[in-house]
Order: sequence, then C-alpha cells, then structure tokens
Amino acid sequence: MLKVRGLEVFYGPIRAVRGIDLDVAQGEVVALIGANGAGKTTTVRAIAGLTPFRGEVSYDGRALAPNSAERNLRAGIALVPEGRGILGSMSVEDNLLMGIYCRRDQADALKDIERMYERFPILGQRRTSMASLLSGGEQQMLAIARALLSRPRVLLLDEPSLGLAPKISDFVFSLIADLRKEGMTVLLVEQKARQTLKVADRAYLLETGRVIKSGAAAELAGDSTVSAAFLGGT
Ligand code: ATP
Repeated sequence: MLKVRGLEVFYGPIRAVRGIDLDVAQGEVVALIGANGAGKTTTVRAIAGLTPFRGEVSYDGRALAPNSAERNLRAGIALVPEGRGILGSMSVEDNLLMGIYCRRDQADALKDIERMYERFPILGQRRTSMASLLSGGEQQMLAIARALLSRPRVLLLDEPSLGLAPKISDFVFSLIADLRKEGMTVLLVEQKARQTLKVADRAYLLETGRVIKSGAAAELAGDSTVSAAFLGGT
C-alpha cells in the first residue's frame, strides 16, 4: 500500500502542499480532486520522486525518497504526467520501448508491447509514426500504455482527460474503470470531479495544499463541499 504522511512541498517561499496524509490500498482507484493550484500535481510528482518534499512517502513499508524518480519507477511507481510526457520526435514504438527499459524480462516485455497494440489498436496501426503526429487522445493512450509497460504496482495519472474532446475523455475514464476491474492500483488526479467520482473507490478533495474532505467516492459525489467546489463541473 502507498502511504503518505505529513507531505509538504515548497517552491521557494511558496508552500504548495501543506501536510497531506493519504493512503492508496492495493487494487484501489483513489482520486485527488480540487481546483487549479490546489496542489494535486505537486503531490503526485512528490510521490513519483520528481520533487523534493518533507514528510513520509512509503510503499509497502519502504520509504520512497525525494528526487528518486528512477528508483521509484523500479519500485513500481509509474507516473503519467500532466501533458503526457511523450517524446514527439520519436516513433510510437520507441516511446513504448522506453516503457520497458527498466524491466529485466525483456523478451516478455516485448510481447507486452504487442499486447498493448491489441489493447490500443490505433497505436498498433501507427507504430512507426512520429508520436507528435498523434491526436491528443492517441498521445494519452500512448502515455498510459508506456506507463503500464513498466508493470507498475501503482499508476499515478495526472489529469489524463485534460484537453481531450468529450468522447475521447469518456474513453479515458472507461479505460480507468477497466484498469480498476483488472486490479490495478491507481492514484488519479482530475478536475472533472463527477466523472472521476464514478470510477474511483475513494477520493480526497484538496484546497490550497490541504485535504479538506476525504471519503468514499460515492459519498463525496453527494457532498455539498464537493458540489460547491465543482458547481457546473463535469
Ligand atoms: P493544476 O490543476 O493547475 O495542475 P494542481 O492542483 O495540480 O493544479 P499544483 O500544480 O500542484 O496544483 O500547484 C500548487 C501550487 O504550487 C500553486 O499555487 C502553483 O502556483 C504552485 N506551483 C506549482 N508549480 C510551481 C513551480 N514550479 N514553481 C512555483 N510555484 C509552483
């Protein structure tokens, strides 16, 4: 299980995250929701080892240190960053090959790439295309496929639906629902609170770097603080 206690992140004098506690148990989809600037991205970047932090982040009792992204990836923490982090000048296949570089079982990993092409046929059709030529939705699939290829124990998804057309965004949410059924553990950052609370088991509502509400997703969906924060949101 992923455990975060007293997480604090500073950007110079700015205290972006102010003592967050959160847990993600195996097989759970947990959402971090909240308005722009609430500290969601900073929290997942700290968990991924990409940002210095104070406090404790551990997985299965083992501490994950700040600034240890590669070690965290090897420990099974994979981040699909906001903006996707695709290498646009490389082919779809080369981007996927980056996803398996940390795996020891390269022969099986190559087979997994073929399985990803079955799961996302559009990636299979475009495997030699430059990634920058893909649509936003296709790039998001590529980013998620690349992260899955590292065989994560915890998948961190930072605003995967951002900037996507409604149909494609729906596809991303249905993909998260599928991952949940398959038993994947997911920490999902999203602004689309209503759709997020439908696919999540539990959620934390963040405001100015603090958790102001947490609980079962179904309960939070009917909570007045959440509706007030997301009035008119999807
Ligand atoms: P968004 O949905 O816009 O990504 P968020 O909830 O993910 O919002 P963060 O991006 O984590 O929020 O930002 C939290 C706070 O930290 C904000 O006040 C933001 O302005 C500030 N911040 C984020 N990144 C930096 C940075 N690199 N330098 C300085 N301040 C930053």
